[in-house]
Amino acid sequence: MRIYLSRPHMSGHEVARVAEAFASNFVAPIGPQLDAFEATVADYLGGGVHCVGLSSGSAALHLALRIAGVGPGDEVWISSMTFAGGIFPVNYLGAKPRFFDLDPASWTIHTDLLAEELARAAHENRLPKAIVPTDLYGQSVDLDALETLATRYSVRLIVDSAESIGASIGTRKAGSGGDAAILSFNGNKIITTSGGGMLVTKHKDWADQARFLATQARDPAPHYEHSTFGYNYRLSNICAAIGLGQMQVLDDRVTRRREIFARYKAALSRPGITFMPEPEGQISTHWLTAITIDPTQTGTDRETIRLALLDHQIEARPLWKPMHMQPLYRGAPYHGGGMDEGLFEQGLCLPSGSDMTDDQQAEVIAHVTAQLDARA
Ligand SMILES: *Cc1c(COP(=O)(O)O)cnc(C)c1O
Repeated sequence: MRIYLSRPHMSGHEVARVAEAFASNFVAPIGPQLDAFEATVADYLGGGVHCVGLSSGSAALHLALRIAGVGPGDEVWISSMTFAGGIFPVNYLGAKPRFFDLDPASWTIHTDLLAEELARAAHENRLPKAIVPTDLYGQSVDLDALETLATRYSVRLIVDSAESIGASIGTRKAGSGGDAAILSFNGNKIITTSGGGMLVTKHKDWADQARFLATQARDPAPHYEHSTFGYNYRLSNICAAIGLGQMQVLDDRVTRRREIFARYKAALSRPGITFMPEPEGQISTHWLTAITIDPTQTGTDRETIRLALLDHQIEARPLWKPMHMQPLYRGAPYHGGGMDEGLFEQGLCLPSGSDMTDDQQAEVIAHVTAQLDARA
């Protein structure tokens, strides 16, 4: 049987929740399951935040950026190493990205680099509208440091927490910070609604606006009245029902992903193999186990190992290709020393699904080890 990178992992609770939705005929966007899902996530994140269920994480980012006032010609400063859905909304709004490298200690956005550039931009009166750092592979960005910077320069902070629900930094939960955070419940994430996302924000007026914009921007009137344009972005009540079932097992899912990471680390650590670091005080979800393979020390490389795994029906994938290296963003400004480029060149995400069995993981480990031993 094929071993996947990260598959949907149902708990068995979902079907009952979906049946409840069917029984009450709330087979529509909006309904009691959606209200309950939003309340459950808000509660999980520690309260004090408003949650708006949406059709995807990308939709959540689109709304957050629009509500932050991002428009044509504005700059949005963003982690270069991210997924397409975490940046394309910048294009939807006609804004321009400026890319930042990662901090080697955390593999999340380099806050010192960002601080330097913010100081320079403030001096030259060209501050961005918003900063969008990514919680890479389930590891929270440095929320306190980023919030301090955002406040100092009056810049909006929107955290891409699509991969990190269940993670924490100190006493804070990933997905609860900034002006807003976005979550994704796509099929390959830690928990899924079969496709969906959420906007999480401490500002009640942002949540109200997000609900308004996500339901075709209908002004209060018995007929359809519009003073601005909106989107059809609301999460289906049926999908929210799946999410309710998944929230019951979120912590188990994180525990399992962390176990998988720890087992890979114990089995595969050797000179030339690096695992994504986890700074002290942080708990990553380890959504995907990310490693790098240094050819000079191991005698092999990422692609050789990836293809060897593929030969055995095992899906592994390079790390995200940094956005400043993408044809789409050629020429966009980039700040950093190319740490993200190195991660792309040498990095591999190993199968990390919480439904992977111990035997399956042993198989992955055996194939990677065989490749490393063959060249040692
Ligand atoms: C998955 C993901 C998104 C987008 O979420 P969708 O629900 O697929 O639209 C955005 N950013 C990052 C970093 C992601 O991993």
